[in-house]
Amino acid sequence: MAERILTGIKPTGQLTLGNYIAVLKNLKKTNERGECFIFIADLHALTLPIDPAVLRQNSIDLAAFYLAAGLDPNKSAMFLQSSVSAHAELNAIMQNYLYMGELSRMTQFKDKSAKLKENAIGLGLFAYPVLMACDIVLYDANIIPVGEDQVQHIELTRDLVNRFNNRYGNILTMPKAELRKVGKRIMSLSDPSVKMSKSDPKGDVFLKDEPAVIRKKIMSAVTDMGCEVKYDPENKPGISNLIQIYCAMKDIEIPEAEKLFEGYRYGDFKKAVADAVIEELEPFQNRYKEIIANKSYEAVLKQGAEKASKIANETLKRIQKAVGLLQLD
Ligand code: AMP
Repeated sequence: MAERILTGIKPTGQLTLGNYIAVLKNLKKTNERGECFIFIADLHALTLPIDPAVLRQNSIDLAAFYLAAGLDPNKSAMFLQSSVSAHAELNAIMQNYLYMGELSRMTQFKDKSAKLKENAIGLGLFAYPVLMACDIVLYDANIIPVGEDQVQHIELTRDLVNRFNNRYGNILTMPKAELRKVGKRIMSLSDPSVKMSKSDPKGDVFLKDEPAVIRKKIMSAVTDMGCEVKYDPENKPGISNLIQIYCAMKDIEIPEAEKLFEGYRYGDFKKAVADAVIEELEPFQNRYKEIIANKSYEAVLKQGAEKASKIANETLKRIQKAVGLLQLD
């Protein structure tokens, strides 16, 4: 079966190096592999309180970042999730096929709801994986490039596909999470026991950070006891995280980096990591600025929504028919 690739990012907070490594870095190559659907998960962004003006600006930024990363509008459909109404329509159907027990076991829901007042947890936060499953099955996507934090949601989508197909026949396509070999979970620079996640200005490298700021953040990254540059996430979480970042930037594997940095002091190693990140992000940031200035993302988003809607509406019809919703045309 040909590859149908789908990937999305929520336009919440500032995009981080974690997002870059999980999705953006490989976007150009992803374009070459098959038919791609790359979206801005703006409906998902509403699951936690967000200022409307911030959401709008983040959505524009993300579109420009996708293009700056090398997304080819002739090969990929880039669109806003909210521009394709089939996502929300399918959600109304699929919410009946995932169960409350399953949703309440999702780590992201537990983590995110723990930070909110108990009487102010939106239903959308709880039901997030249902909409995410809809995002995936609407495009018959079989490959889903993600970071490790999303694997549990993809597993749930796979359960849904099995459940649905057992009941109605072979209607939905089975998706598979695709993780980067190195860099599937980039950790905070200020606390390598937590994920880098758009919320910590000290520990996160933001994609809009100036090179000098990026360098400062990496040079101040928390390291570990000892002095060897060795990959050992349990005993050396800080250094291991920096090794992962370096490997992801240079597209090399961990033993190669360990060999390269044999005998290096932490300070010199950090400098090499900062150089690698800046070398990669600086031209990317320049492209981003150009795209923001010429607004070329607008036409791409419109064209992408048209292409995505056509395919999503066909799948929606197929599903509506399967569950017994009367089709009048
Ligand atoms: P989000 O920012 O939650 O919308 O995530 C967008 C994509 O980036 C998903 O595929 C996540 O798994 C991935 N991602 C987010 N943070 C990290 C991180 N710290 N390390 C690796 N991947 C990440």
